[in-house]
Amino acid sequence: MTEGDVLLALMEQDLAIARATKALDELPEKKAIIQLRQRLKEIEGVAEKAAAYLRKANAMVSRAADDVASVQAKIDAEQAKVLSGSVTDSKELQNLTREIEALARRKDTLEREELGLMEKAEAGEAQVARVQAALAEGRAKEASLIEEYKARGGELQTEIARLKAGREAIATRLPQPLLARYETLRASKNGIAVGELKGSLCTACRTAIPAGEAQSLAAGPEIGECPNCRRIIVVRQGA
Ligand SMILES: [Zn+2]
Repeated sequence: MTEGDVLLALMEQDLAIARATKALDELPEKKAIIQLRQRLKEIEGVAEKAAAYLRKANAMVSRAADDVASVQAKIDAEQAKVLSGSVTDSKELQNLTREIEALARRKDTLEREELGLMEKAEAGEAQVARVQAALAEGRAKEASLIEEYKARGGELQTEIARLKAGREAIATRLPQPLLARYETLRASKNGIAVGELKGSLCTACRTAIPAGEAQSLAAGPEIGECPNCRRIIVVRQGA
């Protein structure tokens, strides 16, 4: 193989790698996984909010329970005074009874508030459970999509690995400066770094080269440069 043949073979190999990589990128499972991960991120955000709400509601329930218990302790203390018989003055007893009644009313109010808060906490717990179920379902779906992607993509990945290995073997056959020139052009010219001179046409840019320049290319070395697209142009003897 001449250097020109090697260059053209290298380009074919690189184009095959690009096609296989594109096919891998465009597998519908990949798109679905990306979309699902986006959705999972959103659900995780909702889960965090639901958990924070539940923590707050539980803290409020526990504070309300403490308030009820502390009022109950006061009631117990006042009742103990009444029952002890140490308070004999009827006016004082009446005051104590009134205070106990007021405390009992206060306790009723606090207990109602506590119940309301408990309902909120229960609703929060249910929301946390719903969001966690949605997350679990989404993650299971993600795992099965990844399996499908691996199965369908596996063949392509094997093909890409084989093509890349072949590509490396081909590349070693080129002198370093020519390979570097090829790589620079490949990066700047959408993967097409090399054309062939066919008559007066460059096969890469499909543009006719003025007769005089085409003639001097044809008479020159195998590796030239297209005067139109500046890519490497392979000139075959007798072309
Ligand atoms: Zn050209």
